[in-house]
Amino acid sequence: MRPESLDFLRAIVDTPSPSGYEERAAEVFRQYTRPFADSVVTDVHGNVWAALHPEAEMRVMLAGHMDEIGFIIHHIDDKGLLYFSGIGGHDSTIPVGQRVWVHGKRRVPGVIGRKPIHLLEEEERKRKPNLHDLWIDIGATSRAEAEELVSLGDVATYQVEFQPLLGDRATARGFDNKMGSFIVAEALRLLSEQGGLDPNVGVFAVATVQEEIGLRGARTSSFTINAQSGLCVDVNHAIDYPGVSPSRYGKLDVGAGPSLTRGANTNPIVFRMVQEAAQEEGIPYQVDVAPGGTGTDGNAMQLNRGGMAVGILGVALRYMHTPCELLSLTDVENCAKLMAAYCRRVRPDTDFTPRLLD
Ligand SMILES: [Zn+2]
Repeated sequence: MRPESLDFLRAIVDTPSPSGYEERAAEVFRQYTRPFADSVVTDVHGNVWAALHPEAEMRVMLAGHMDEIGFIIHHIDDKGLLYFSGIGGHDSTIPVGQRVWVHGKRRVPGVIGRKPIHLLEEEERKRKPNLHDLWIDIGATSRAEAEELVSLGDVATYQVEFQPLLGDRATARGFDNKMGSFIVAEALRLLSEQGGLDPNVGVFAVATVQEEIGLRGARTSSFTINAQSGLCVDVNHAIDYPGVSPSRYGKLDVGAGPSLTRGANTNPIVFRMVQEAAQEEGIPYQVDVAPGGTGTDGNAMQLNRGGMAVGILGVALRYMHTPCELLSLTDVENCAKLMAAYCRRVRPDTDFTPRLLD
């Protein structure tokens, strides 16, 4: 990956952006895309899109959500301990013992505490904790001391940053799905720098908000952009480690190329165009099957207005919604190339109506 791109990936992943609090990540996305986009827009919901040929009649929307899961403070007790709710889907076994940043008046370090093993009742040892049994301890000794820095509604994220691993693999908190915002921005950069986009086709690379709490930003941005076709990109569960079975979930390997979803949530013409693009450009890909609507922004996009012709791309990721999400950077790069290749194949008169083709 070229160094400037890697810096951008690192910056957007490391920037905290729990759902509803995406402003900082939005600024990282704007700064990166401004030099090569024809326009950069932020809407009232917080979605940001960078566009090429924004005036074109035929429009393609590329979406990668920039929110991440996190915690929100809902109570501060007399001792200055912070009680929190989860933003997005958490496995309650994960937070115990983690360091966090509380994003208050300034970035405040804290730890997530729980009674130690010695003090747990027999029955408590057997079950996993509830999030409401946990708290954040910032070292304050009173509510007043905590409230000097932290207010109700402030959010917290794990103190974990981007870390390259062996080979082309890396781990971070929030790859889900800031690597998706990275990919849509990179796809737009490739189109801008390498060309090949029809002058009468517009491309909108959208960093959507609030996906983790119900695909909310995709809904509003899809309506405004009103594209005929779109590609969503999100992380996808790698099925390549002990305990997960391809016979149950389908096979998906880290490092074997972006996934391309087939099923009702995707338009068959778009699926075929993306598949042909991958084959012609020599980009490896894996087919992922979804029998119904998916949990991605692609679901909201497809149901926009009278319907959008949607394709769903994924990057295989291990340990989703934990502080140690793991993926292949080559998959990420290939996914951006594939998105750009799809956009180059869209014409002002492309007909996305599902029909039988030979
Ligand atoms: Zn997620």
